[in-house]
Amino acid sequence: MTVTFLHSIREVRERVRNLRANGFDLGLVPTMGALHKGHAALIRQAGRECDRVIVSLFVNPLQFGPGEDFERYPRSLPEDLRVCEEEGVDTVFAPSVEEMYPRPMLSSVRVDRVSDHLCGRSRPGHFQGVTTVVSKLFHIVQPDRAYFGQKDSQQLAVIRRMVEDLNLPVQIVAVETVRECDGLAVSSRNAYLNSEERKAAPALFQSLQMMCREIEKGETNVRCIREIGLRKLQQQPLIRVEYLEVVDPEEMQPQLQVKGAVLVAGAIRIGSTRLIDNLPCRPEVASIEGGKLP
Ligand code: AMP
Repeated sequence: MTVTFLHSIREVRERVRNLRANGFDLGLVPTMGALHKGHAALIRQAGRECDRVIVSLFVNPLQFGPGEDFERYPRSLPEDLRVCEEEGVDTVFAPSVEEMYPRPMLSSVRVDRVSDHLCGRSRPGHFQGVTTVVSKLFHIVQPDRAYFGQKDSQQLAVIRRMVEDLNLPVQIVAVETVRECDGLAVSSRNAYLNSEERKAAPALFQSLQMMCREIEKGETNVRCIREIGLRKLQQQPLIRVEYLEVVDPEEMQPQLQVKGAVLVAGAIRIGSTRLIDNLPCRPEVASIEGGKLP
């Protein structure tokens, strides 16, 4: 099966109409391209659950702030098409910026509260750019399901809330983070790292793991939990910590005390590269109740 490669919204709408006329249900995987094995995991899950898979490749200028890496973000269209072909994708939609934004945008979608902390704090306007482009893609493709990585947990939470608040007729499916052998979350931005930086990078995952272990052992004081993670990251002179937080998994609000399931999330800078990661974790039932397992 060869992949259908489309640039225009008009062609995508027509393709979607044809697929629907054949009775197929549709899965959408929105990406910024530079596809890697994390994206492939999303595409594969979509392929298992949907008759036809549509992948969008679009480096969305709205979600990059001034001075961020929009210009230098890796772009590799021929390679991306090869991956999509290999993974059995039906349609690739790769619009130009002019196709998506023919005129300056006067409308946007904003999700309050869930966007306030973590990446929302360090990247003002980022999530508004994400929710705006994702809602455009949902309206263009009208998928039955859309697939997002747990790696960008705040993005996932923001999109889930947008879909719920605005009754968008799409099911959001979360896919677990794909990691390199040493634990580093796979990311298109890992390509920016030189070999020294690459060696230091797994410390983020390790520090999140250490924080999770403390929580699972029964530590509830977030100040103590953060201290442990920070100490681990401070051992790496190449790393600057942007944030390291314990938040509730639904609204991404920083917690002072662990009372149930939480998300441990961090962002670091190594040189000029910004990396994020997170782990869901929950205390042992016995430890929240103050008891011990028999
Ligand atoms: P991006 O191209 O970085 O915007 O990512 C497109 C989608 O792939 C988003 O839903 C990401 O959360 C997801 N994704 C990126 N990296 C990974 C990974 N390592 N594991 C799972 N999903 C990922």
